[in-house]
Amino acid sequence: MAASDITTSSRPDAAGAPERELTDGFHLVIDALKLNGIDTIYGVPGIPITDLGRLAQAEGMRVISFRHEQNAGNAAAIAGFLTKKPGICLTVSAPGFLNGLTALANATTNCFPMILISGSSEREIVDLQQGDYEEMDQLAIAKPLCKAAFRVLHAADIGIGVARAIRAAVSGRPGGVYLDLPAKLFAQVMDAEAGARSLVEVIDPAPAQIPAPAAVRRALDLLKGAKRPLIILGKGAAYAQADEAIRALVERSGIPYVPMSMAKGLLPDTHPQSAGAARSLVLKEADVVLLLGARLNWLLSHGKGKSWGEPGSTRFIQVDIEPREMDSNVEIAAPLVGDIGSCVEALLDGMGSGWAAPPSAWLEAIAARKEANLSKMAGKLRKNAAPMDFHGALGALRDVMAERPETILVNEGANTLDLARGIIDMHRPRKRLDVGTWGVMGIGMGFAVAAAIETGHPVLAVEGDSAFGFSGMEVETICRYQLPVCVVVFNNNGIYRGTDVNPSGGSDVATTVFVAGSRYDRMMEAFGGVGVNVTTPDELGRAVRAALDSGRPTLINAEIDPAAGTESGNIGSLNPQSSVQRKKPAA
Ligand code: ADP
Ligand code: MG
Repeated sequence: MAASDITTSSRPDAAGAPERELTDGFHLVIDALKLNGIDTIYGVPGIPITDLGRLAQAEGMRVISFRHEQNAGNAAAIAGFLTKKPGICLTVSAPGFLNGLTALANATTNCFPMILISGSSEREIVDLQQGDYEEMDQLAIAKPLCKAAFRVLHAADIGIGVARAIRAAVSGRPGGVYLDLPAKLFAQVMDAEAGARSLVEVIDPAPAQIPAPAAVRRALDLLKGAKRPLIILGKGAAYAQADEAIRALVERSGIPYVPMSMAKGLLPDTHPQSAGAARSLVLKEADVVLLLGARLNWLLSHGKGKSWGEPGSTRFIQVDIEPREMDSNVEIAAPLVGDIGSCVEALLDGMGSGWAAPPSAWLEAIAARKEANLSKMAGKLRKNAAPMDFHGALGALRDVMAERPETILVNEGANTLDLARGIIDMHRPRKRLDVGTWGVMGIGMGFAVAAAIETGHPVLAVEGDSAFGFSGMEVETICRYQLPVCVVVFNNNGIYRGTDVNPSGGSDVATTVFVAGSRYDRMMEAFGGVGVNVTTPDELGRAVRAALDSGRPTLINAEIDPAAGTESGNIGSLNPQSSVQRKKPAA
């Protein structure tokens, strides 16, 4: 008998007394999630959680099954970023769990709230290492890779376990949480009423964290004295959903701003105060920088070195919910710890109405650099040639995104990522989803699926051909759920470029090249979606518009010049090159 059969029925107790309603671990997990407003699960079914997915669907939850756990995990993570509720990923034990773990670690690194719920083997056997089916001490393995990890052994503790997982994921700095549910737990039966009483509704899961008034004054004093102030918006600011307040802060202060990748669109990239097109100038010259939900990690050259001014010439105000982020790379002159909504409101209050605009010399220098850079770029974006280069193809996509600002852009690759980030303007908050803090490849189809499911808006996934390969099988998932996702594969026959040759002269191809002339569009056709092959930017623009109009799953294979890419895109400096010249071995 399947566990699910017990629970919908009731049974007489031993003494033949009146029937009492029963519940079990399966139903308690589902009830606990639903009680807390969680209505979607991303996962891959299998032992011991097959029935959990089935029952969740029966109970009205949306259960989206993937082909590989990493993609389900990435979907859950980005659902968390988009909704501020933890995204749920459900995996089978050991190998499925490990496949989901990359996404859990990536979510934690990016401050996305998610919960990886994994079935696991029996404690008694695992702990004595007696060789169970898919034996693994999953809790111990997950712990260092996430924000918190919990295991539930008794059905009566499921409510508390789920509540702790939710609160850990979304309070303070958001992140990934692991919840370990051994197979035996699911079939544990208990009295239904006692079960219902054991559930916990998490009240105020991400409480406001109000900044101290003295810290607000310190920040404003520093900002007021600045000659060349700059605001850097990070994805924490996008996550906070304090869009109006952030816009008011930027506009009332008159301070130029640079958005980090996933903060693009918080204010439209076409905003007059955007200094994105003068990024290298403003980082180097700014004397006071206000970091709003952005970390001084590698993506900002750690706040020092040749991208920045002389040591000591830049002073930082950092707004962040995580106190330990302060001074992580350089001294923070004015730490402002709290949630971004509360901090920005406090800054606005403190600024009052008579805030003086930054010195005009600073604004003029930025405007001049922006204009020079944008006009240099404009010509390249209008080139309608075959084979396409990255700029021509991205110019076409930039126009589509300007016409359809609701579209969500998913983006990964090397050149495809770095150039799209700069070229494609974003016009609305939380519309750009990409590789984030790790620069990890493989987020593409998981992010695209969740973006479509969570928002109902069309999704445009712009993918390098290599990046696409990590999650490409999920085109079947996109077709199965009939999602409005248009994937564009920038096909330049390889990693970085398609032109490398095997240095030994042997018959294997070079390590960075793929089958030349591949037709990724046919993968989508295999599952009933639309496939299109394009060779010019005009064709590309037309095909993307048609896909977004139809809402049908579409994959566009965009033939890019195999010689067009550069090694490692913009981050070639992180890719060590050997300087040793070995003598050729004797034949
Ligand atoms: P980016 O890569 O865009 O610079 P990061 O991921 O490096 O962004 O930084 C995001 C920062 O935002 C993290 O330090 C995180 O603690 C912070 N953060 C996330 N959510 C909030 C919030 N609601 N309020 C304040 N800070 C937040
Ligand atoms: Mg490529």
